[in-house]
Amino acid sequence: MSRILFAGLGNMGLPMAINLARSGFTVTGFDIAASAMAAFSEHGTLATSVAEAAGQADVVITMLPAGRHVADIYLGDAGILAHAAPGALLIDCSTIDVDTARQVGAAAATHGLDMLDAPVSGGVGGATAATLTFMVGGPATAFERARIVLAAMGKTIVHTGDSGAGQAAKICNNMILGISMIAVGEAFALADKLGLDHQKLFDVASTSSGQCWALTSYCPVPGPVPTSPANRDWQPGFASALMLKDLSLAQQAATATGAATPLGAEAARVYAGMVESGDGGRDFSYAYRWLAGKAT
Ligand code: NAD
Repeated sequence: MSRILFAGLGNMGLPMAINLARSGFTVTGFDIAASAMAAFSEHGTLATSVAEAAGQADVVITMLPAGRHVADIYLGDAGILAHAAPGALLIDCSTIDVDTARQVGAAAATHGLDMLDAPVSGGVGGATAATLTFMVGGPATAFERARIVLAAMGKTIVHTGDSGAGQAAKICNNMILGISMIAVGEAFALADKLGLDHQKLFDVASTSSGQCWALTSYCPVPGPVPTSPANRDWQPGFASALMLKDLSLAQQAATATGAATPLGAEAARVYAGMVESGDGGRDFSYAYRWLAGKAT
């Protein structure tokens, strides 16, 4: 389990790969962007092709933008599944749709390979500090094999079920977060209209039935929670464009399964409006300012 191929050295993947190298794993990095390869070069070796490097690795980890990138890199004649060493463990940490995660996991099984979907929560800060939360779907035996590797990048590691269950947990959690942030933002926007002081609303709601993480740990107005992005002009944090991506995955899953998610759908519309207005790079808690600006 000592040789790791890490593909996708972006905002999240680069610090994750560096933490693996710091923990003593021999890490080979791969990315299609030359700048990402250059950023990793002092921490490990660089692969010239993912197919060639996959054959040398005990563990392959991917951290890519979306489902199509994951399908591309694993499937097909030049893909990881066709070239991975017998017994290699495959871990996809990207946030992608449940269907693609299950398809790629099933394809891995036909090659006799163990595969886990292991999306993360915690953002770039958690990736850098090795404090990520991993939500892991796939065979229990593969999960046990993966523990030592995931522990080098994160603090909380939860086996959520069979293939696809990691992605399912990720999108359900982020749907709660996306909706609850809008609820808190709306309440502060209404408080503004009513002349109610932000700190007073916080003091009441944070200790009564309105209490939730979006309020008490990530308050969308400046002041009550000094560490929240609202205190630095809503710089992310977690960008509203990424929240829109996760809520869109939740809506895709809801449509595919026939689940009723009316608030999830409305939340997706609010973040889509923010992105279309040019605020996709601001923290998702900017929903408060965006809603307040809509008021007439
Ligand atoms: P990013 O765009 O910064 O990085 C993705 C990297 O993948 C890029 O360097 C890109 O060049 C590379 N890539 C694309 N196709 C490739 C291929 N075929 N082979 C090798 N490399 C390839 O994105 P990110 O912010 O690091 O996010 C990665 C994943 O993590 C996404 O699925 C995202 O939703 C999820 N995520 C991000 C955050 C966050 O705060 N950024 C938090 C949790 C989860």
